[in-house]
Parts: sequence; C-alpha cells; structure tokens
Amino acid sequence: MKDATPRMILLSDYQPPDWRVEALELRFELDPEDTRVHSRLRVRRRDGSAPGAPLRLHGRDLQRLSIAVNGAEPSPGSCVEDREGLLLSGLPDAAEIAIETRIRPDANTALEGLYVSGGSLCTQCEPEGFRRITYFPDRPDVLTRYRVRLEADAARYPVLLANGNRVDAGSLPEGRHYAVWEDPFPKPSYLFALVAGDLACIADRFTTRSGREVALEIYVEHHNRERCAHALASLQRAMRYDEEAFGREYDLDVYMIVAVDDFNMGAMENKGLNLFNAKYVLASPDTATDDDYVHIESVIAHEYFHNWSGNRVTCRDWFQLSLKEGLTVFRDQEFTTDCTLFGVKRVDDVQRLRAFQFPEDAGPLAHPVRPDRYAEINNFYTMTVYEKGAELIRMLRTLIGRDAFRRGLDRYFQRFDGQAVTTDDFVAVMAEVSGRDLAQFQRWYTQAGTPQVTARTRFDAQAGVLQLDLAQRTPPTPGQHEKDLLQVPIRVALLGRDGRRLSARLGGAPEAAEWVLELTAGEQSFQLRGLREPPAAVSWLRGFSAPVLLEAGQGTDELAHLVANDDDAFARWDAAQTLLRRAVIARVEDAVDPRLEAALTTAMAALLEDSAVEPVLLAALLELPAHRELMESFERADPVAVDQARRAVEHSLFAPLAERLAARAPERARWDDGAFTAEAMGQRRLLNRLLAVRVAAGGEGALEEAARQYHEARSQTLAMGALAAVNDRAEPVRGELLADFERRYRQDPLVLDKWFALEAASQVGDGFARLERLLEHPGFRWSNPNRVRAVLGPFMAQNHRHFHRVDGAGYERIAHYLERLDALNPQTAARLVIPLTRWRRLDEARSARMRASLEQLAGKGLSKDLADVVERGLA
Ligand code: ZN
Repeated sequence: MKDATPRMILLSDYQPPDWRVEALELRFELDPEDTRVHSRLRVRRRDGSAPGAPLRLHGRDLQRLSIAVNGAEPSPGSCVEDREGLLLSGLPDAAEIAIETRIRPDANTALEGLYVSGGSLCTQCEPEGFRRITYFPDRPDVLTRYRVRLEADAARYPVLLANGNRVDAGSLPEGRHYAVWEDPFPKPSYLFALVAGDLACIADRFTTRSGREVALEIYVEHHNRERCAHALASLQRAMRYDEEAFGREYDLDVYMIVAVDDFNMGAMENKGLNLFNAKYVLASPDTATDDDYVHIESVIAHEYFHNWSGNRVTCRDWFQLSLKEGLTVFRDQEFTTDCTLFGVKRVDDVQRLRAFQFPEDAGPLAHPVRPDRYAEINNFYTMTVYEKGAELIRMLRTLIGRDAFRRGLDRYFQRFDGQAVTTDDFVAVMAEVSGRDLAQFQRWYTQAGTPQVTARTRFDAQAGVLQLDLAQRTPPTPGQHEKDLLQVPIRVALLGRDGRRLSARLGGAPEAAEWVLELTAGEQSFQLRGLREPPAAVSWLRGFSAPVLLEAGQGTDELAHLVANDDDAFARWDAAQTLLRRAVIARVEDAVDPRLEAALTTAMAALLEDSAVEPVLLAALLELPAHRELMESFERADPVAVDQARRAVEHSLFAPLAERLAARAPERARWDDGAFTAEAMGQRRLLNRLLAVRVAAGGEGALEEAARQYHEARSQTLAMGALAAVNDRAEPVRGELLADFERRYRQDPLVLDKWFALEAASQVGDGFARLERLLEHPGFRWSNPNRVRAVLGPFMAQNHRHFHRVDGAGYERIAHYLERLDALNPQTAARLVIPLTRWRRLDEARSARMRASLEQLAGKGLSKDLADVVERGLA
C-alpha cells in the first residue's frame, strides 16, 4: 500500500457542500470476488452554492463500469477521475446519476469499506470507507435517505442486513435471494452498513417509554450463540438508562448488532445496525473476565448512545469528531458509573487518562480535542478526541451545574436534530442555557497539552481563613508554542483532624463543605473563611474535576491522612498514588526514601484492617501507578530502571504485610461464580490484587496459592488473576500454568488472545524467541487485528526488558513487523507504531536507537496512515 505524500486537510478550508443528495438507491450484487454496486443518486445544487460548481464524488480503489447522468453517458471532459475520485462538471441544477462499480471484498485486508470476515461480508465506513464501496460525496455533512437492495447466494449468505427497516425480501433465480432495507432517517455515508452471512440471531424486545416496540437482534457465528446474553442485557440496560438519565428514546423498529472477528476498532454505531469487534460482544464467565464484561457493557452502551449523540445529531466535518465521541464517551461513563462500577469508575477512567492521554498530550502526536489540521483522519480517533473530549463535557457540567447541563443537552438534541454541527454549536447551547460566558472555556477545544496547576495554602489561625494560591501553565506542544489561560474547575474540600469534612465559606457564598474554585487567571487566590480549626488536609481536585496535572506540595502526613479518611474515592486513591509515585521516583533516582516507604506500609496496613473500605476501592488503593504513567514523571528515563524501581517499591512496601494480605483475602470459592454484580466483581478484583501483591512481595506460599487459584478457578477472572500474578516470575509454575491455558483454549481465538498477551508481555527468559513462536502459532494471523494487537501491544507496553533492550533489537524487530503489517492493514499499523514515537523520553542510548528504527521505517514507502504517524513522530 503505497501512497503519495499526504496532503494536509485544514479546518480553515471548510466549505459547505455545493450539492445535496436528495435520495440514494443502492443495489448490491454481493460476491466476495466480484461485487457489483449499482448506485443511483438524486442530486440538487444547494441554494447559495457557487454557480456552476462541480460535483465531487469521492472514490478509492473502485473499478468503474459505467456512469450516466440523467440517463446519458457524460462527455469525457465533464467527468474527470483524479486521486480523490470523480469530478462532474456542467451539471444541471438537479440530476440523477447512475454508477456501476466493481469491488473485491476478499482482497480488502485494510478492513475499510466492504470486506470479508469469517464467512461473512461486512462493512466499516467511518470515517472514509464508503468511498471504497461506491462514488459518493463521502463527507459527514451530506445527509441523505438510503434505500438498499442486497442480492446474494441464499445458501452462503442467508442473512442480509442493512440500516433501517426491512421492507421487502424474496428469492431470485440460481439459488440467490434479496432483501430491501430502507432507512427513514437521512444519514451521512459513514453510518452506512451492510452484512451478509450465515449467522445465528439472538433476539429479544424492548418497549420504549412511549410504548414503541423494538426488536433487538444480535447476530453471531452459530457456535457463539450461547455467549450473547450479557451483550443483550447490556443493550436493554443502556436503552433504559438513556431514557431515564438523558431523556433519549430509540427511533426505529429494530436494533441490530453484528459481531465480526476481523475489526479494526471496538465497534461502529451504523444507524440501526451496529458492527462490533466480536471481543466486545461475546462473553461467558468461563471465557471472559470481569473487565471484559464491563468493557462489553460500556461499548454496547457507547454505540447505542451514538444513536442520538452522533447519528441524529452528527458532525459537520471530521475536525468535529469529539462532538460525537467526547459526548458519547461522557454518556457511557455516566452509565457505567450509575449502573455498574459506582465510585471506582472514576478511578479507572483517570488511571487510563493518565496512562494514555497524558502521554499523548505531552508527546509528538499531541493535538487539540478539536484538531485544526490532519493528513489522515483515521489517526485522530485518539484518547484526546475521545477521553479528553469527555473530560471537557464533564467540566462543562461542573461549571454550569447539573440542571442547566441537562437542559442544555435537551436543547442541543432538539435544535440540531437531523443536522451536522460543530463543537462550537454545542458549547454555544451550554452558554445559552446557563447564561454563562464560555469563551475562555472554548480554548480547551483548540489548545493541546495537559495544563499544570500548582497549589499552595496558608492558614491564618487568628482569622480562621485558609488562603489557596493557584497557578496554571500549559507547556508547549507541536505547532502551539504559546498557550492561553484556561478556565479550570477545581473541586476541593478540607478534612479536619478527625477525618471529617470542615465547613467554610468561599467568597460571599453560604457555608459549605465542598467548593469549586474556578481558576481562570495565571495566578489566582481564593479564601475559605469561618474555619474554627486548622485543616489537617486539603482534598484537591475531587472527582478529578479537570484533566490537569496538579501539584500541591503536600507532605507525607497530609497525604496519609487523605488515604485514611477522604470520602471522595478518587481523591483518596489519588493521595495514595502521589505517595507511591514519589517512592518509585526516589528509587529511580537512587535515593530510596525509607521513611516514605515505611509510611506507605503503615497506611496500607491500616487500609487492610479497615473493614469500612469497600473491597473494590481497597484493590485500587493497593495498585501502583502504571509504568506508562511513571515514565511521564521524568524528562528522560530508562524504562527498565523504572520498571525495576516500581517492583522494588511494591516488594519493600508489601513484604512486611504478608500475613495481613493473606488474611484480608475474600473467600475464593464464594466469589468465583463470575456474577456480574458490583459486589462480586469488587471481591474478585481484591482477590486478584492481593494475590499479585503477595507474589510480588515474595510471600511464603504465594506461588502455590496462585497455582491453586488457577486450577480451581471457574471464572476467567480468577484464572487470569493467577496467570498475571506469576507471569513475570522465572519459576517453573509460570510455564506450567501458561501451557495448560494454551491447551485449554487453543480453539477459542478470543480467549487465546489473553494467552498471546501474557506470553508477549512476560519479561522472563528469551522474549525474542518467544515472540517468534507466538507469531508462528497456528492461532496467529497477521490479517486479524485482535491477534496482532494481542501480541505486539503487550510486548511494547509491558515487556520492557526485551522491547527496550539497550542495543535497540526490540525496536528494530517491531519496526520490521510493522512494515509487514502495513502492507495488509495500514490503520492497525499506524496505531501500533505509537510506542516508537516516544524516543525523546528515553535515556540517550535507547533514544537514539528507537529514533533510528523509526527513521528506517520512514524510508520504506509506507501507507498514508503509517507514514503520517511516523513523520509526526520524527518531527
Ligand atoms: Zn464512539
């Protein structure tokens, strides 16, 4: 896949389309080797468009068999093919265009457009896959009504699906059959989907609050039909939740989900016909972990929520991607918080944000939530657009209040229903309903980088006033050297000696026990008045009220007080993280801090004794900051040394607690049923965390306990917990357990991916030889993104000893694999290359070698997707 130098697309160049498409009829003669697409578009020049403006139809890798404009073949001069597709000029103000194209789904390994997965034909069109199916104005601000007729071999493809409602079906000569689907809602081409296959259908119903009966259908390969119950129940919960929490109701007679094995992303919200990576549909307690269950539920909900935030109201252009993604992530986070994980959801989300989005925002790929330029839009489906985008929505709610926020959402959906709009439109509605000026807030959308906030306090005992001095600064990012000041909501509380919250007054407001400080200046002070005792600790950034790096210079005692007492789960966990991070940093800098580590041991011991701490929160409190996040604490660091320091802290901290750790373990047999309840999942999380800590601390009998847990486990969660605990131990038990797992799940690709990931991540033994063996394993396929990600991802993210080998062999190896992958699947290659762009943050020897591998890759004639990331990574 070799492309010419990519062209930059600029937001400032945006022009509304000159043509509307009033209706679209598609007829597919489906066949893996030779699919014919007959397309009939009714187009009309838009009022106010430039007179004589040509009609742009995008097209890519299409074989055009015929084209007619109002029934006649256009003259060669008025129909020009260029690198974007077709340009039709000299058209009357209204025309009907008929085009026949030929495509080859079986040769499509990029998995964009129409392709083959398993025995099925399926599509992925967002963002620009539709142009690989037929010529069309493939941009999100061209909305039209679709009528789709599918024709295929009846035995091979008994199931024929497309968006909307099925209006006709029947048989055809020569063993073929057809189905006709009509979608009453105008939509952009990226929401188009079709599926043809031999699939089982698991069906149920949902009655909307206004009484509409909706058929729910999940389509999977026949042998997977027993693994759909969780996905179906998740869908029903999500539909109910969207009505109750957001007032959003479903609008078609049928809602379909199809699971496919080969899929570049998680899932896709095509109108009425979601396509899913099978990994986010299929689950049973013995094959899926609790994390899998939670992810499935949240992805099902996410795609469902898109029906309003994305489909009914869509994006004007791809710069506005966060309009739908940030908002929909926010909505799915709310759902998981309220229905499934409660307090610990925020902890998990912040952990992810810090481990993945913060590094993105601090590295060469940093970009604003609403980017203003791109070479390849596929590379902007990022943590920044999704997760930081969701943080912006959350901050808006914090700033204007829950009531105004909810009214704003209602008004947004009502006003823009059926339209393609911008993030500015969204914020404008929030400003309107709240009466607040959000001009400064808007900068969050246009400015990249994680703001750094510093905070200091001074207590005036005589006056009973605590002064809080805050300052903000955002470091430069590529292309943005000067940064503006942001509006940062910082939620705070004060804890007294007894651990309870103190009341005070902020400004002229009535007495309260929690406040939102709105930091808008570079430096700004706030006073909390009416304090009768000195606060023992300040609980900063409660609920992680803003996506910033906050440094409050708090001492060990103050942080330990928060760990013991804070009633905000996030702030409590964060205080522990700060202490743990300091302990690791000290070790990396060869300055072990025994007092700090002792204080941590004491704090952890107290938590283990405290029966009021919920198991799930206790598990989170016992976790060290992720390696990826720790790397961000240094300008440059040796990743192997950071990993060792992290392990050393874990060991020194928990070794003295061996007995307490064992004593605190929940009763294994009781919680091993895989039940999808907050309580059971919390207990299992604690079981696994305690086991991991005991093994890490070298506790007596810990390895034996891991082996027992593995062999006795009925739930995949506890089996995985045992394997993960021993995966970096150079002991025979590791090999035995992993071999057993491989034997058991050889035939089950999704479960086998867990084995691939563990083997790739393990730092013991010869990681390179093992990597080779994984790639030769009969269950491995370069053409399947899940397999490739399961092997290469963990190798880069966790196998520090091998990936970061000082001689650069790990980097070279990965670069070589990515070159090979790029020829098949550019999108997946462009994602997996990201760790190689972090060379600036490594010690000098590794830095140079990683950069060299990236440079070597750059010289290879790469796809546009991969070239874009590599070039930005080198710049
Ligand atoms: Zn989404």
